[in-house]
Amino acid sequence: MSDRIDRLRAVIEEPLLVTNEANLLYLTGVESDNAGLFVEPDRATFFTDFRYVQEAREAGADVVQTARNLFVDLAERLSGRVGFEAETVTYAGFETLAAGDLDLVPRRRLVEELRMVKEAEELTAIRRAAEITSETFTLLARQQFTGRTERDIADWIEATFRELGGVDLSYDTIVASGSNAALPHAVPGERTIGPGETIIVDASPMHGGYCCDCTRTFATGDLPEELRRAYDVCRDAQAAGLDAIRHGTAGSDADAAARHVIEAAGFGDAFGHGLGHGVGLVVHELPYLNRESEDALATGNVVTCEPGIYLAGRGGIRIEDLTIVTDAGPEILTTPTKDLVTVE
Ligand code: ZN
Repeated sequence: MSDRIDRLRAVIEEPLLVTNEANLLYLTGVESDNAGLFVEPDRATFFTDFRYVQEAREAGADVVQTARNLFVDLAERLSGRVGFEAETVTYAGFETLAAGDLDLVPRRRLVEELRMVKEAEELTAIRRAAEITSETFTLLARQQFTGRTERDIADWIEATFRELGGVDLSYDTIVASGSNAALPHAVPGERTIGPGETIIVDASPMHGGYCCDCTRTFATGDLPEELRRAYDVCRDAQAAGLDAIRHGTAGSDADAAARHVIEAAGFGDAFGHGLGHGVGLVVHELPYLNRESEDALATGNVVTCEPGIYLAGRGGIRIEDLTIVTDAGPEILTTPTKDLVTVE
């Protein structure tokens, strides 16, 4: 952990107050929703209220106990030029800090950019999360789908994750069937799965504090021609996206590589989100692979490749792998088949 704080010191121009929860966890190993790590050239002080003091001391931090209202307390204790995490501190929090004798400097992405490049032990945790995910998806392909509700399938997936050692979820499970599959972030509900539909399943457990992210699309029996074709196009686009993922590629170029395939097939308007994102302590983090992204991919990044085609009222397709970026291309961590699997 202290290595990480040293790497942060190398990129900051003034003392930095870190308050983002995932960043605090990354730098100190402590999970707290009311703490600030104040990183100075020669020391790092962990400010938090009574509830987290013991845990922070046990993690080896240099702890100062504050009042329950952290920012009121910090406004009195800190002074001079202080960087703060502009994407995390609320406007109200900013006002509270600004009432003190601080010269506040907004900073962005400092810890997040360190988190982009994973260490070996982080990759081990992510690999294990991906193994549990892959095993569950392979077992899922043998399940009966038709006649069951989306919620029932989601419950089965989550129970299987737990059996295989994935205690927490990386994100809310998506099981979206029929017309619901046209909604990228559908919530699994009481809809009963019928024949001739696509079912988008997007689900992953956490392991060792790290996330995975994986999607497969299944079919119940023969699909209408348009959906069948959309599946093939989405799969080709996903392969093109994977081909582009390597050290040095711009996130926007990887997105374009997949998007081009979908646009050329006439489904351009049906792919309304980005190609992918980084995954780590949280499921959406740097770097981003989308049209607006200014991130470049680097060896040791962990990113998704997840094109989708959503046809309102008719159904949808999404195929998503989790990968480690290397010089030679992506190391794909999620291994279930991407051939169209027809389930009962
Ligand atoms: Zn994703």
